[in-house]
Amino acid sequence: MSSRAPITIIGAGLVGALLGTLLAQRGFAVELFERRADPRKIGYLGGRSINLALAERGMHGLRLAGLTASVMDKAVMMRGRMVHALDGHSELLRYGRDDSEVIWSINRGQLNTLLIEAAEAAGAKIHFGQRLESVDFDRSTLRMFDETSAEIREHEAVVMLGTDGAGSALRAAINAVTPLGERFEPLGHGYKELEIPALGDFPPSALSPELTDKRDAGERFAIERNALHIWPRGHYMCIALPNAEGSFTVTLFLPNSGDPSFATIVSPAQVADFFARDFADAVPLMPSLIEDFTQNPVGVLGTLHLDRWHLDGRALLLGDAAHAIVPFHGQGMNCGFEDAVELADLLETGSHDMAGVFAEFESRRRPNAEAIAAMALENYIEMRDSVAAPDFLLRRSLERI
Ligand code: FAD
Repeated sequence: MSSRAPITIIGAGLVGALLGTLLAQRGFAVELFERRADPRKIGYLGGRSINLALAERGMHGLRLAGLTASVMDKAVMMRGRMVHALDGHSELLRYGRDDSEVIWSINRGQLNTLLIEAAEAAGAKIHFGQRLESVDFDRSTLRMFDETSAEIREHEAVVMLGTDGAGSALRAAINAVTPLGERFEPLGHGYKELEIPALGDFPPSALSPELTDKRDAGERFAIERNALHIWPRGHYMCIALPNAEGSFTVTLFLPNSGDPSFATIVSPAQVADFFARDFADAVPLMPSLIEDFTQNPVGVLGTLHLDRWHLDGRALLLGDAAHAIVPFHGQGMNCGFEDAVELADLLETGSHDMAGVFAEFESRRRPNAEAIAAMALENYIEMRDSVAAPDFLLRRSLERI
C-alpha cells in the first residue's frame, strides 16, 4: 500500500486517463470520477473531433505508459499535408525528409477507451456516470451527481486534479474560493464535422467510375490515406483526417458571422452552392454532405487563459481545464499529455509537498502552454490569408499544421 496521499482525478478523458495510468503505474492510489458512462458498455459519446492528430509530444506520454503498440495498431500515419487548390489540383507537402518524421491520426473514442483500460490495469479506480457538482475544500469533500440514481453523493478527496476539460467544474469550484483570473477569448469562427465514407460504405449511386475502380481494386480510402488533407480558402478551410477503417473526418472551419459564415450557409441550397463553388473536388466524396451539415452542431472555438492553475496543495488544473486552445496546430491533446508526464514525474519525486509540486508544475508548463496557444492563433490568422498569398507563404503557413 502506498504511504503517499491518494490522488483524485476529475475527468477520465484523454488527459485524465493518461495521468491516472502514469500515477497508478508509479504506485499512487488513484481514483477517477468521470461524468460520462463507461464507453466499453455503451460506446463512446464524444460529441466532437472524432479523430485527432497525434504528434511526438503526445506519443512520448503514451510510450511511457507502455501503450505504443496498442496505439499504433489503431492509428493511421500522416506523412504530410495534401493541399487541395481551388482548381482541383493537389500537392503533398511532407512534414519531414522521410517517414521518420510523421504524425498520426487516431480515433478519439478508441484512444480514450484504450487509456481507460490502461488506467484500470495499472490499479486506478474509475467511477463512471459521476459528475462533479461542487467542492467543499475545507472538508476535502467532492459533491458528485450520480447519473444513474440522480442523487448527490459526497466523496473525500485530499488532492484533486482537474482534467475535466474546457468547461471544468473543478476550475469553477476553485474560482469560487480563489479567483484564477479566467479569460476566455472566443475565436469568432466555429467548426462543423462532415464525413468522407470508406469506399465500401458509399451508396452505389454516389460512386464515380474512378472511385468504383479504386474500390474494386481493394482500396478502402477514397483519397490518399497517409496525409492530412487541407482545402485552404482564405477566411475559411476544410481539413480531413483518415480513420483506420477507411473513412475521413472532415472539419469545416468557418466564421460565425459575415458572408460566408455559419449564419449565411444554412439551407440545403446554400450548403450545396457554397461547397460546389469552394470545395468542388470534395463534393463527390461526401454523399451525405447536406444531411451532415444540417444535422451536426457548430462547435465553439477559443482560447482559455488563467493567471493561476492551482489552489495551494489541494487542487490543480491540467489539460484543457487549464489551457484550452484553438486547434490549428493540432496540439491540444499533445500538450495535455505533456502535462500528465510532467506532473507524474514531479509527484514521484516530491509528493510530500503538494503545494510546491503544483507551483513547480505550473512554472514549467505555463510557458509551453502559452507558447502553443499563441502559435495556434497565429497559424489561424496566417492560414486565413494563405489562399491569396504567394506560394512560398502558403507553404510556410501550412507547414505548421
Ligand atoms: P477533454 O477531452 O475535454 O476531457 C474532459 C473529460 O472530463 C471528459 O471525459 C468529460 O466527460 C469529463 N468531465 C467534464 N466535466 C466533468 C464533471 N463535471 N465531472 C466529471 N467529469 C467531467 N488536439 C490534438 O492534440 N490534436 C488534434 O488534432 C486536435 N484536434 C482538435 C480538433 C477540434 C475541432 C477540437 C475542438 C479540439 C482538437 N484538439 C486536438 C484538442 C483536444 O481535443 C483537447 O486538447 C483534448 O481533448 C483535451 O483533453 P482533456 O482530457 O484535457 O479534456
